Amino acid sequence: MKKIILEKEREKSLLRRHPWVFSGAIKKVEGKPERGETVDVLNAGNEWLARGSYSPDSQITVRAWTFDQNETIDRDFFRRKIVKALEFRQRLPGIGTDFTACRLIAGEADGLPGLVVDRYGDYLAGQFLASGVEKHKATIVELLIELTACKGFYERSDVAVRLKEGLTETTGTLFGAEPPDKIEIHEHALKFYVDIKHGHKTGFYLDQRDNRNYLYKHAAGKTVLNCFSYTGGFGVAAAKGGAAMVTNADTSAPMLALGSENMQLNGIDEKLYENIEADVFCLLRKFRAEGRKFDIIVLDPPKFADSKHHMDKACRGYKDIAILGFQLLNPGGQLYTFSCSGLMMPELFLKITADAALDAGVDAHIVNRFCQAPDHAMSLHFPESHYLKGLLLNV
Ligand code: SAH
Repeated sequence: MKKIILEKEREKSLLRRHPWVFSGAIKKVEGKPERGETVDVLNAGNEWLARGSYSPDSQITVRAWTFDQNETIDRDFFRRKIVKALEFRQRLPGIGTDFTACRLIAGEADGLPGLVVDRYGDYLAGQFLASGVEKHKATIVELLIELTACKGFYERSDVAVRLKEGLTETTGTLFGAEPPDKIEIHEHALKFYVDIKHGHKTGFYLDQRDNRNYLYKHAAGKTVLNCFSYTGGFGVAAAKGGAAMVTNADTSAPMLALGSENMQLNGIDEKLYENIEADVFCLLRKFRAEGRKFDIIVLDPPKFADSKHHMDKACRGYKDIAILGFQLLNPGGQLYTFSCSGLMMPELFLKITADAALDAGVDAHIVNRFCQAPDHAMSLHFPESHYLKGLLLNV
């Protein structure tokens, strides 16, 4: 086995089972491993720490597969990891009955760094985001098809992070039938069409499932502004829950159009919703100038921070929309505000929201705190996997 030797005292994170080895922690690479090849990681004193996949172009040079020296990285290894991930989902309440789409593999949190696999009905959609899973792609796809008996596996590795791994972006059918343009999924009382091939990521934001269901239960009779609406997730939940009027806002016309189809799929009267194709930052200012108000506002923006360098700008972005959101609420209104940036720590998000309330001149209470649905596994040893956070504030 080729070896990676760490600098002195750089093994702490691996000892805590965090799977990443950064390039700066490495003293020596022995034996010229190839991209994606399995390597052993040793500390400066030559003690074995972990076995992982090598990624020469990435700042994350090794991602650990195992912390057990006796474990070989072969087909059986991948079978064990996938079976374990599937069994974890099987134990979650509601799977297959309350909802028909689910994250089956959540990368590092399932011990398979860089692999994301979602199930939408009878189809799997996956992303291979690191060199290790890329190298073992064929085995992983075969095992997933064997273990889930799905009809097809569609790859959506059209993501810029692949470039950091020295990989190119790629999409397409890896097994079986190509998925139809629209797959119908159910979650709790709601139905959605998902477009695996052209939607964002693998097609749908399944991580917000429980939070959409919460809004569904609390939206009756309210006017709702759903910002960054994508294919209407929160808007459909509010409308189905009996909202008086739902306004969806997004910059993407095709996603708003699919949002309308989702409203129809759920039997929502056309008069009960409107779609506005606009930049939310401008639209909220326009509404403020017009004096337009809402009972509930949902802010679920895309990831504002991809790296530590973007954190300042991201904080300003979250604060800006939260100030505007607070200002557009009727007395007693509620703000649902989310961040899906893994780099944004919950306490910082809380502080930004508190600063926003101050600047907006409102007094607000926290009514609830949200996170991702549990099929988007959160590992105790990998805090980066707890990426989605949300606050429900009552003014
Ligand atoms: N809330 C959605 C997911 C939101 S994803 C759900 O539950 O399904 C983020 C969305 O923000 C995308 O649809 C993207 O098109 C949109 N978007 C990104 N920047 C925007 C902007 N400045 N103004 C409006 N929409 C924007």
